[in-house]
Amino acid sequence: MDVGVLTVVVALLVALVLRRSLILRRDWHTARGFATGVLVVWVAVLVTASAFEVKHQWVQARATALVVHVSGSRGAVADCQRFTPELVDLSTTSGFVFSDSQNVAHLRRTVCNDLFAWLRSSKRTPTDAQVRAVHITVHEAMHVRGEFDEGRAECFAMQQDADAARFLGATPAQAAALAQRYYRDVYPRMAEPYVSAECAAGRAYDLTPGDGQFP
Ligand SMILES: [Zn+2]
Repeated sequence: MDVGVLTVVVALLVALVLRRSLILRRDWHTARGFATGVLVVWVAVLVTASAFEVKHQWVQARATALVVHVSGSRGAVADCQRFTPELVDLSTTSGFVFSDSQNVAHLRRTVCNDLFAWLRSSKRTPTDAQVRAVHITVHEAMHVRGEFDEGRAECFAMQQDADAARFLGATPAQAAALAQRYYRDVYPRMAEPYVSAECAAGRAYDLTPGDGQFP
């Protein structure tokens, strides 16, 4: 399990709520008004903190399942950036994979948030950010798979986007629309290392069903 600052905070809050419950029981006849008030506050804080922690763990688990599915690497994991590291992260990268720890796809916090929003949505009208979040996860899975050339990883990833969207619960039509939207709207605006003439011209690119194979 991925343990972060928030995980520790939630554990501490559980301990505090339990302690407060015991105090309330003990002092029921003398100070139940005050003790109940304090307990209600702690429970409210615990519920809020738990919601954020559960969201982090859940979207990270879904992203991990996708990275495993796309890369074919059983030990692969996705690592969603937590709140505190993001505060000091001045980079502009949306995700990355270290070549010496190739089975971990690091995803920017905003990417995981957008992926979460898409997963929880009807998937009928995804935002640009949600389309990119699905694709970025697939792109990083290409690095996990061993493709470290950005142009090739990007081209291969676009051909897996529809399959990935279906894997995450989109209908075939929604999945195809998502993949085509990235290729037509986002890809042409990408910076040079990600764009290859062959892929842009469609020669190394094929959106037909049955994708899931390298071209
Ligand atoms: Zn990359």
